Amino acid sequence: MTGKIYSCEFFPPKSAQGDENLALTWEKLRVKNPAFFSVTYGAGGSTREKTFATVKRIKEAGLEVAPHLSFGGDNKEVVTDLLQRYREMGIKRLVALRGDLPSGMGGSHLVYANELVDFIREKTGDYFQIEVAAYPEIHPQAQNYDKDIYYLKKKFDAGANSAITQYFYNADAYFYFIERCQSIGINNAIVPGIMPITNYSNLARFSDACGAEIPRWIRKRLEAYADDSASILSFGLDVVTDLCEKLLQGGAPGLHFYTMNKAEQVLALWDNLQLDQSGQT
Ligand code: FAD
Repeated sequence: MTGKIYSCEFFPPKSAQGDENLALTWEKLRVKNPAFFSVTYGAGGSTREKTFATVKRIKEAGLEVAPHLSFGGDNKEVVTDLLQRYREMGIKRLVALRGDLPSGMGGSHLVYANELVDFIREKTGDYFQIEVAAYPEIHPQAQNYDKDIYYLKKKFDAGANSAITQYFYNADAYFYFIERCQSIGINNAIVPGIMPITNYSNLARFSDACGAEIPRWIRKRLEAYADDSASILSFGLDVVTDLCEKLLQGGAPGLHFYTMNKAEQVLALWDNLQLDQSGQT
């Protein structure tokens, strides 16, 4: 099978040590030749310059990079300026999001992702390849299942090219979602987001917040391992390898790895799945 897209996601580090570690991480991952590395953006502009600086460093290392972007509480001038700066840097791909406001910024106005896509197209035409977010287990604030995919369609209608999903551990949720999307005329690539399992408590906390379900059997197994991190890593690798295999065999157009700025589990998955270095399987 050819033409699948494999990509990796980072967050902007908060310290000089974190910056150094991240550079080591992308150096380890680059041998696998991912299609791009994306860098998250703290809504409300909280990481605006940090995201920009991280994107710049990755670009200068000779890698393809896709900044995440949202309005947060920012005005149009700030977003236009950022788009301009990314363009000057030679960035060709963006991940456009509504984002979530950090606590304490509740009064700010959130701009839906479809409106941001509209805005980017209005300002920059077809210049950027635009990715948006999709939720096979449905966004936690969605009115209902059908409304959520209706709004996903609005993002594509506004000019988004493809989507990356929230992570999930149930392949059927993804396949059902794709079927429902196709039924309303969405035929764009929707790439599964893959979260390696490395630590139970962090994963549980994060999953509760973003509405991703950890199936009970996985929870119970991880709970039983308690502090035995070697067993968690080994079990997690088996579970996620199996998930990725099912997704690829079932027609998923690629995989987007949430690296949490660490290379090891992603490299192990890459090897288990025998994804080759041209980014294709
Ligand atoms: P939207 O697509 O705007 O949807 C948000 C909610 O509103 C949904 O419930 C939807 O059903 C509803 N909705 C959408 N459009 C409309 C409309 N026009 N009218 C009424 N209701 C509407 N967060 C960050 O802070 N920084 C990041 O870098 C980041 N990266 C992410 C990357 C990926 C691949 C994913 C899957 C998520 C990421 N997130 C990030 C999390 C994301 O910002 C949150 O899930 C956020 O709550 C929703 O963003 P969205 O772009 O999906 O929103």
